[in-house]
Amino acid sequence: MTRVALIGLGTMGPGIAAVLARAGMTVAAFDLSPEQRAKAPQAMKMAAGVLATLGMADRSQAEVAIQEDLATAVKGAGLVIENVPEKLELKLQVLAEIDKLVPKECVIASDTSGIPITKLQAGNSAPGRIVGMHWSNPPHIIPIIEVVAGRETAPATADWMAAFVKRLGLIPIRVKKDVPGFVENRVLYAVMRECCDLVEQGVIDPEGLDACVSWGIGYKLSVVGPMALLDMAGLDIYQSVGSYLNKELCARGDVSPYVTQRTAKGQLGIKSGGGIFSYTPDGIKELQSQRARRLVAVRKALEG
Ligand code: NAD
Repeated sequence: MTRVALIGLGTMGPGIAAVLARAGMTVAAFDLSPEQRAKAPQAMKMAAGVLATLGMADRSQAEVAIQEDLATAVKGAGLVIENVPEKLELKLQVLAEIDKLVPKECVIASDTSGIPITKLQAGNSAPGRIVGMHWSNPPHIIPIIEVVAGRETAPATADWMAAFVKRLGLIPIRVKKDVPGFVENRVLYAVMRECCDLVEQGVIDPEGLDACVSWGIGYKLSVVGPMALLDMAGLDIYQSVGSYLNKELCARGDVSPYVTQRTAKGQLGIKSGGGIFSYTPDGIKELQSQRARRLVAVRKALEG
């Protein structure tokens, strides 16, 4: 069994901890915030309930141990997963602290959404053991993990991580170049940029956009991936449509005013009670459990 330390128990941490524990790992977790440490057990319990409905075998040995300091959390770990906010300076600081505490054989993974792993290796005493392990939100439901090697990652570290992801019963996606955003977020952000632009231009309203994407390409792509879709539609069709349409698509390099103006006003989405849509506290709970139920049902259907 691998002893794993998870650093950061915010949005992603509890779901990740629940998956690791259920797969039989000995898990210790740490968050700088006492509030997050206090909230984590309930969130982990909810995630474990979802894992049970997904049919994940329960190989748990022990409860996740939530520690009050980093040194205790990483003690004896064979793998440390850094899962703190997406800020380069903060991640470098946390990785430097971990570097001082663990032996050179300990693999250090980062759940960064898209900071190149090469940047996170800077200054580390053994950069060969640093690797990207990008989970997808919600981490206890979405079955892929991107495995990303930085310039100095030892091939054996990336291979070990891919095998480890399989041991969790998940699908490792080997990203071959350490590009910002890796693969999943590059595709997602290209889609999001176009969606925001269409709504901002008044081509469609947010409800209509979501219905179009979820019931159109979203539904289809979950069964036929984009590359297979090219073959299904015919490359000649893509060639003809792309030749007049590609130049019309949004190509802005900044974030659209549609998002920037809301962010500036504190309209951040579910976490602030409203962003593009509005939410009530009861409505949020219902929405979250409905989404979890639907994602579980779709995953089961796709697993066939
Ligand atoms: P979050 O802000 O919700 O949680 C991060 C947690 O780290 C917080 O609870 C915070 O208290 C804690 N923290 C901050 N500094 C710390 C320190 N020095 N030591 C220990 N704990 C510390 O962030 P999140 O959404 O869970 O994201 C974590 C990482 O996962 C980021 O790199 C993010 O880009 C990535 N990620 C996020 C998502 C997502 O949808 N939220 C999806 C995939 C990957």
